[in-house]
Amino acid sequence: MKSLFSSTAAWLAFDRAHLWHPYTSMHDPLPCYPVESASGVRFRLADGRELIDGMGSWWCAIHGYNHPELNRALREQSEKMSHVMFGGIAHEPAATLGKHLVDLTPAPLQHVFLADSGSIAVEVALKMALQYWYSQGQPGRQRFLTVRGGYHGDPFACMSVCDPVNGMHHIFQGMLPQQVFAPAPQTRFGEPWNPQELDAFRELLVQHRQELAGVILEPIVQGAGGMRFYAPEYLRGVRELCDEHGLLLILDEIATGFGRTGRLFAAEHAGVSPDILCVGKALTGGYMTLAATLATSRVAMGISQGSAPLLMHGPTFMGNPLACAVACASIELLLDSPWETRVARIEAILKQELLPLRDSPKVADVRVLGAIGVIEMQEPVDVAAAQKALVEAGVWIRPFGKLVYVMPAYLMPEPDLRTLTAGMQRLCE
Ligand SMILES: *Cc1c(COP(=O)(O)O)cnc(C)c1O
Repeated sequence: MKSLFSSTAAWLAFDRAHLWHPYTSMHDPLPCYPVESASGVRFRLADGRELIDGMGSWWCAIHGYNHPELNRALREQSEKMSHVMFGGIAHEPAATLGKHLVDLTPAPLQHVFLADSGSIAVEVALKMALQYWYSQGQPGRQRFLTVRGGYHGDPFACMSVCDPVNGMHHIFQGMLPQQVFAPAPQTRFGEPWNPQELDAFRELLVQHRQELAGVILEPIVQGAGGMRFYAPEYLRGVRELCDEHGLLLILDEIATGFGRTGRLFAAEHAGVSPDILCVGKALTGGYMTLAATLATSRVAMGISQGSAPLLMHGPTFMGNPLACAVACASIELLLDSPWETRVARIEAILKQELLPLRDSPKVADVRVLGAIGVIEMQEPVDVAAAQKALVEAGVWIRPFGKLVYVMPAYLMPEPDLRTLTAGMQRLCE
């Protein structure tokens, strides 16, 4: 890449004037920090400063950055082929990844759709459920039941199952499919379960049972919709209700998959297996965009043996060999590592350092599960000011609303973890 700019300040100014960043305005956006490179658990800024990364680039970078094994997988694959169309062509990187996914997920999930991002994996999951019912001669089943506080991505179908308030449904009124929303799960992970909590969900399910295609949920952790951890019994109850009424259960493990909550998949906390499963984010170790939707044979054959037998999806970059190769390398790296011990160690340190912050008058709540640590403040965080203070403390943490949270790479050394938590502690003083 030729440099078109005379200085860092020059390209930053161009970026500010011309490039949208996630959820930003073109008018006077918050400042961005110029990252020049990233290695291990650290970013290097253009001015030479190093920051310990607490975000894992939004759940993705579970092995840290610039990992020799992942680099090698990409390099070797790029010398064979970076991309070929998936229509009418098969290749070993996709088959190997498919085998890993079928092997790692619950036994009934046997059929894999490789999507090019998490939200497309969710779109495909919803489409699978709709096509399943269409093929079964029940085309009237076109709605989904979900809970408030969820996040499933930004395209229209995904947005329709996101929390209606956080997801700003009012802006898109008339454009979004109208889904059915139960209250957010209340009992927290690890707290005593009250079976009555499922009453509202059950009532809605029964009331709408003739028009529902299925239920979609993030298992155990509601991520971008509020970083809340809920009781496994809730998920188990939802699975039972779906079975009772023949509805499909879609679990969105895009944030939680590949060990983040202390189990390989969060649904394992509840011993629940979905009809359709979405994975993404950490799938490639954060190297490239890739996701997958897995389905049981009931779903896959149910679609294929009916009156609309072709699953109507096929993105240009479906099964991209580079992304598949790096995903295989990431999965192998994960399974060969003591990831359970590492995640448990992060959980212990996050609990030790963050739970005492509950006593701060600025703090409303603190929660830790696996390699996820969350501080919910009493008031919305002034992101620009907090970000500046955090960068000065040598850490990269991106607050959001009232939430200051981290999900570090599993191999982060203990002193770096404590630097991260010290940065969080400073915001609570
Ligand atoms: C991030 C996320 C998505 C969307 O994935 P993208 O790769 O950003 O399209 C969907 N569901 C959940 C639970 C997520 O965390």
